[in-house]
Amino acid sequence: MNESPAATAAAASIRFVLVGTQHPGNIGAAARAIKAMGLARLVLVAPEKPLDDVAYRRSAGAEDLLGAAPVFATLAEAVADCRLVLGCTARSRRVQLEQLEPDAGAARLLDSAAQSPVALVFGRERTGLTNEELQLCHASVHIPSDPAFSSLNLAAAVQVLAYEVRRAVLAATPREEAPARSDNLPATHEQVEGFFTQLAETLDAIDFHKGRAPESAMRKLRRLFLRTGLTVNEVRLLRGVLADAQRMARLAGEGGRLSP
Ligand code: SAH
Repeated sequence: MNESPAATAAAASIRFVLVGTQHPGNIGAAARAIKAMGLARLVLVAPEKPLDDVAYRRSAGAEDLLGAAPVFATLAEAVADCRLVLGCTARSRRVQLEQLEPDAGAARLLDSAAQSPVALVFGRERTGLTNEELQLCHASVHIPSDPAFSSLNLAAAVQVLAYEVRRAVLAATPREEAPARSDNLPATHEQVEGFFTQLAETLDAIDFHKGRAPESAMRKLRRLFLRTGLTVNEVRLLRGVLADAQRMARLAGEGGRLSP
């Protein structure tokens, strides 16, 4: 499938920057979270330990992102070419920085991603981002967690933000409708009425009404079929069924007359 321009820009330009990560396993899990949302750029800043088996195992197929992740000594270097840098913080309103909800942050990242690289920055498991690091950010993003237990696992926070970016990408992508085949089109009024006429004739032919007024059954049947939104194909199928029922009724009538 061809990617939409929004998806291509997001994958190429939205950078997930993990700062000072303590557990390599979290880096692997973050890579998986990013890749599953159609995104591709993982950047590391001074991880405490090198990537290990646990990291690769937890990436569960996103080894390409891990292998391609550049490692920088400082956050400033990792985001030097970015025109928008958002810092994710577990604590609400920690610094004098505009605070965005995840969906607003994702929308802003996607807006800028068409022009230049942009970054979403995540802090250390134990201590988050330092004030100096947050001061490099244009705004912060806080996932509105329980204030009494506000800190998500690093990879879980990455997943939430990657998902919000994904939603923004999908919202920016006009869905391509499968071209409607002509027999999949809704039946015209005339086609549906033709079916109802044949249905009424068939009910007579099979003596469905048995002396009762036919209007009540026909009203209910009309309501039933009109509720379903019949397609051209379905009307054709139903009329085939009715034609056979009419033929059988005719045969039975002839048989009845022939039998003594
Ligand atoms: N004890 C740290 C929490 C670190 S969790 C602290 O209080 O800052 C590791 C990283 O995951 C955080 O630095 C942040 O980038 C991200 N994160 C965790 N919970 C988050 C939340 N509720 N909103 C936004 N980011 C969050």
